[in-house]
Amino acid sequence: MPSRRTHPDVERVLISEARIHRRVAELAREVTHAYLNTELSVVGVLNGSIVFLGELLHRLPMPTRLDSVVASSYRAGTVSRGPVEIYRDFRLPLRGRHVLVVDDILDTGKTLSLICKHIRQHRPASLRTCVLLDKPARRLVPFQADFVGFKIPDAFVVGYGLDFAERYRNLPCIAVLKPQLYPHPR
Ligand code: 5GP
Ligand code: MG
Repeated sequence: MPSRRTHPDVERVLISEARIHRRVAELAREVTHAYLNTELSVVGVLNGSIVFLGELLHRLPMPTRLDSVVASSYRAGTVSRGPVEIYRDFRLPLRGRHVLVVDDILDTGKTLSLICKHIRQHRPASLRTCVLLDKPARRLVPFQADFVGFKIPDAFVVGYGLDFAERYRNLPCIAVLKPQLYPHPR
């Protein structure tokens, strides 16, 4: 069985496991400082945020409520196709709540802008977003996250929750796969 650390499909490691852990700990401190003793409603965007969400959440000291939404995925590709859809909605009442939406990566901006527009209709007291990764060069819809782990160049990445056709989510680092594994040139 290949090691998670030196997976044969990985072309290069963009962000090491150690750097991710250090930065997530810092992000948790930034979020804690921004909310102080406020109860926070955390909404994770599944599945990509799952590893990041878990690590961030267990570092937050304030009272939290957790919910999630499922947005449309890339399926087996590396490019977003068509309009984004919310497949499974959150369940907690968010009216009057301080909401933090957590996602793995901000790319074109379509997913987070749709989710934020949707949540705003429920009249939260405040709404902010936190992403592990940001690819500003690829934005199609103007969108800025409030908390960003790392800005990265335009490359399709996997690991630490991010997948390619549902694989590689368990890699401990953020990595670029060997080009022959991707079906279409970007
Ligand atoms: P956006 O709507 O901002 O274009 O895309 C956001 C979603 O696309 C992310 O939540 C993520 O699921 C997916 N995505 C965008 N870029 C990448 C990438 O480089 N790798 C992976 N695995 N998913 C990505
Ligand atoms: Mg996603």
